[in-house]
Formats: sequence, structure tokens, C-alpha cells
Amino acid sequence: MRHFAIVGSGPAGCYLADQLQRLAADAKIDVIERLPVPFGLVRYGVAPDHQSTKAVVRVLDKVLGRDRINFVGNVEVGRDVSLDELLRLYDAVVVATGAPLDRRLGIAGESLPGVLGSGAFVGWYNAHPDWRAAPPAAVRSAVVIGNGNVAIDVVRILAKEAAEMAGSDIDPAAQAHLAALPIAEIHIVGRRGAADAKFTQHELAELGTLARARASVAEGATLAGDTPELDVLRGFVAANAAREPAPVSIVFHFGLTPAAFVGESALEAVRFSRAGGGTVELPAQLAVTCIGYESVACDRLAPSSGRFANEDGRIDEGLYVTGWAKRGPSGTIPTNRSEAQQVAKRVAAETVDHGRAGAEGLAALLAERGVRRVGHPGWRSIDAAEQARAPADRCRHKFDTVAAMLAAIADRS
Ligand SMILES: Cc1cc2nc3c(=O)[nH]c(=O)nc-3n(C[C@H](O)[C@H](O)[C@H](O)COP(=O)(O)OP(=O)(O)OC[C@H]3O[C@@H](n4cnc5c(N)ncnc54)[C@H](O)[C@@H]3O)c2cc1C
Repeated sequence: MRHFAIVGSGPAGCYLADQLQRLAADAKIDVIERLPVPFGLVRYGVAPDHQSTKAVVRVLDKVLGRDRINFVGNVEVGRDVSLDELLRLYDAVVVATGAPLDRRLGIAGESLPGVLGSGAFVGWYNAHPDWRAAPPAAVRSAVVIGNGNVAIDVVRILAKEAAEMAGSDIDPAAQAHLAALPIAEIHIVGRRGAADAKFTQHELAELGTLARARASVAEGATLAGDTPELDVLRGFVAANAAREPAPVSIVFHFGLTPAAFVGESALEAVRFSRAGGGTVELPAQLAVTCIGYESVACDRLAPSSGRFANEDGRIDEGLYVTGWAKRGPSGTIPTNRSEAQQVAKRVAAETVDHGRAGAEGLAALLAERGVRRVGHPGWRSIDAAEQARAPADRCRHKFDTVAAMLAAIADRS
């Protein structure tokens, strides 16, 4: 019997477990997760009003419930067990810990209150236990920096009125906070031109359907080119010519490079340098940077250039990597599935049975240390409790602390 450990239960870790189980009939697979709940950014990144995207958890959950696959939640590698201990217990270890750290711009004022990375902001409205601090309350103008779909998510969540979040699983306290913001302007700013923007047509077009917000493009922007996204932007401009202004205006800016966050004790404006020369200052009490993410160390294993150095998924003898931890923060959920197929083939082909202790050895070590591990039935109890306590217009009310998650298991067992 070969024993595999996967560190991280996001889509990359779950898809890899699925593939390894198919390829290695003799394998037992432990998926180790620092939180008591699985699915990584599908639960804590994907927008709460995009439940059709989140529906992939049904597929991932089936994987974690299989016979030879074991969910080991509430166990952090580097805190509860070391990487070297895992390498002694398992025939191969695969790191699938994602890229949870917001990339920084490295400009003046980045630490001012009111300046947030998208990981912090998205984690807050998605009820991630690590990100409970609310953004400022008196936001009239927000600046969202970045031209990918994460930036579009952030703009949409800021712009929607409460009724438009029906059916979602947004954190109720975050929703109440957002609903009370006196927000009137949301600026979305890209460094390059409109033709180079990374957002996709569907996500962009959704901004043209919001109840209280109207999308437009800043004067002077060049919208020449032939892409579906440019068509949508031109459509925003054309539609606005015939309409009254709305309570919230969303303005797209292109060719502006962030130069400084400006303010005495809190954010007051964001200064940009313009591609053709000169500077522009946009007033803002909230700025959210959506410029990418970096991996953080997994115990002794340190990332370089934001991800773990590897050769086609192999880091070292018996040690592999997949997902955002392998390739950096790019690609969609299905990208992790196709990558997992390749990495699983390699792991299955290169790993021999060393007669190691695997899951039993890990269980003994965790018991000795008094670590409370959460298995698949425990996660299902949390899942059921979150759905049961959801108000009528929500699909789920997440617990936002680890203690509350663990208490939900105790209540149901
Ligand atoms: C804001 C946002 C919105 C997105 N929206 C979409 C979308 O709509 N559609 C789409 O297709 N893609 C979307 N994506 C991309 C998608 O979420 C990623 O492709 C995918 O989640 C990457 O998977 P992963 O498993 O590599 O990382 P993650 O999903 O981050 O999973 C990593 C897991 O590892 C765990 N972990 C970390 N360190 C440790 C440790 N030391 N010990 C144990 N466990 C650990 C974490 O808790 C986490 O559960 C979005 C991403 C973001 C950031």
C-alpha cells in the first residue's frame, strides 16, 4: 500500500486526490487542510453571488468522501506537523497550498488605513476566519486597481444593492456594512490600455445589468480594437448617452500607473501617473489592489518569485507541487484539473511503496500533540449547520471563526 499526503484542499488538492486515486489502485490519500473546512478559494475567493461557479464543490466534496481518500482538516503543516515528518510518514507529499498573500505595489502610502489587498477584502466578505477586519465605513469613492476578473468581482460586490445578493452566501455582517456605505463612485483602474485588459466578456457585461449602478469609461480612453470585451465597453459608453445618471457610477480608467496612496492618517486619494505623461488623482476612502497573489512558506519550504520552484511539478525526492503553489496565481478552476492529471501521472509513476505508516502514523502524531483533527463527517456537520442557519434569502451562513466551526461539529455529534 502506497501512502500519499496532499497539503491543501483547494481545487488543486482535490483534483489531484481524484486523479491519484484513479491512477494508483493501491494508494491511500490524505488531504491535509489548515482550516476545518475544505475547498480553499472556491469557498473563500469565488464571489458569493456566483453560486453556479461555487457548485463545483459538489464534485470536489464527492472526491473527499471516497473510500481511499481521507480529509484531515484543522491541521496546518508547519504548525501541527512538519513537512519533514510528513516526508517520513508518506511515500510522497504534494504541496497544494495556493498563493494566499496579496502582491504589493510597493508605493508610498500602501499601509494607510483604507488600502486593502483583494485577498483581505474578498476574504472579509466571504467570511474567511483570517480576514475579519471590516473596511472603512465612510466610503463615498472607491478605487479598485487591476484589470482582471477579481477586480470586476470587487467592483460588482461594492456596487450591488442588498436585494441583488439574494441567494448568495455573502457574510451577513459584511453585507450590512456594504449596504450602509454612502458609496457613489467606483473607479476601476488599469495600467495598460483597454485592449490589454484581462477581464472576460461575461464578467464585464454583468456590470451593465446592476440595479443602482451605471458603468462608463473615463474620457480620453481609447477603445479601438476588435475584442468582445471592447465591444462591451463601447456598449457602456453608447448606453449612457441616452440615460440619466445612476446613484452609483462605475468608471473604467486605462493607462494609469499607481504612484502613491495619499492621506494623512487614512486614505484620501490615489495618485497615478498617466501613460502619456502627467498625473491624475482620484479621491478615495477605500482602495482595493487586485494585482495578484504570492505563495507563502509551507514550513521549511520557501517560495521564490511567488511560487515553489519545481520541474514539471517535482520539487525534490518524494516532494511535489500543484495548483497556484506550482504555477502562480493564474488560470481558472478547471486549469487545476488538467494540471492535476499531469502531476498525478508523475507522482504515481515515480513513487514506490516504502512500507511507511501513512494516515495511521499521522493520526498517532496528532493525538500525541492534542491536535483536534476534523474528518469528512466533521466537515459535513459544519456544512449542514451553515445551511440550516441561513436566512430565507441566503443559501448559507458561514461560520467565520475556527472555534465556531468546531462548536458546530460538537453540537451535531
Ligand atoms: C477572488 C478570487 C476569485 C476567483 N474566482 C474564480 C471564478 O469565478 N472562477 C474560476 O474558475 N476561478 C476563480 N478563481 C481562481 C481559483 O480560485 C483558483 O484557480 C484555485 O482556487 C486555485 O486552487 P489551489 O488549490 O491551488 O489554491 P487554493 O484554492 O488557495 O487552496 C489552497 C488550500 O491550501 C490550504 N493551505 C494553505 N497552507 C496550508 C498549510 N500550511 N497546511 C494545510 N493547508 C494549507 C488553504 O487553506 C486552502 O484551502 C478566483 C480566485 C480568486 C482569488
